[in-house]
Amino acid sequence: MSRPVAVVTGGTRGIGAATAELLADRGHDLVLGYRSRDAEAAELAEQLGERGVEVRTVRCDVADEADVERLFTVADALGPLAALVNNAGVLEQQRSMVEIDMARWRRVFSVNVFGAAACCRAAVRRMSTQTGGKGGAIVNLSSRAAQLGSPLEYVDYAASKAAVDTMTRGLALEVARHGVRVNAVRPGIIDTEIHASGGDPGRVPRLGPAQPMGRPGTAVEVAEAVVWLLSTSASYITGTVLDVSGGR
Ligand code: NAP
Repeated sequence: MSRPVAVVTGGTRGIGAATAELLADRGHDLVLGYRSRDAEAAELAEQLGERGVEVRTVRCDVADEADVERLFTVADALGPLAALVNNAGVLEQQRSMVEIDMARWRRVFSVNVFGAAACCRAAVRRMSTQTGGKGGAIVNLSSRAAQLGSPLEYVDYAASKAAVDTMTRGLALEVARHGVRVNAVRPGIIDTEIHASGGDPGRVPRLGPAQPMGRPGTAVEVAEAVVWLLSTSASYITGTVLDVSGGR
């Protein structure tokens, strides 16, 4: 019997890589997108391939429509698409909103919103029973920032994640009768490199202990929620956003 095929964008480190590992353990063939870190992608693919599943890595900037189409074409070669994790996301240096220029708003929205939308569109076209697909499930990575607004940090990022929440709800209702479930998770403060890439490597040790549970979360803790939402254990759940934030 063929294995289910999953696409994970930004799937080669952080929350995406943790999700890829759990999906491999649960017998999924994987297509992992990433932006630029070839060596890390190759290393993870080799490691996951040893678990007896097929793994393809694709250098894919989700902000580029042609790249997204290529990502899904690679998945098509493995079999019918069963799952999409829209995980690729970016934030930039902490600034007040008045200091954020419009070029930055466009950069952040290009990846976090337009990239996620392009991937949702490509996935639904393949999964929807209305267009001959076998059904499937999508999980979008939002953020607690969507509701907190991230003042003096990154209102642009927070607004992009609010758009992800709304897109999740709207798309879920559009495709609910066509075999496709669409949900999102909102992580809180999670220990990954995203904070350093936004110019604040000390953010997790600084804010982690102040969280309601007294610590930051791990990538695996978010991945467990993502994989559960993709699984048949969540078969009657669609259009929801699950906070994975230790109470934040
Ligand atoms: P991360 O450690 O910075 O990893 C980001 C991943 O996305 C990398 O694999 C990166 O590829 C890829 N990526 C970045 N820009 C891309 C683009 N334009 N096209 C394709 N791939 C791209 O991030 P993370 O912390 O795991 O975050 C994953 C998701 O969770 C994001 O959507 C983020 O907004 C969300 N989130 C994270 C936290 C947190 O505290 N960590 C909290 C809330 C929400 P390369 O490796 O090639 O650079």
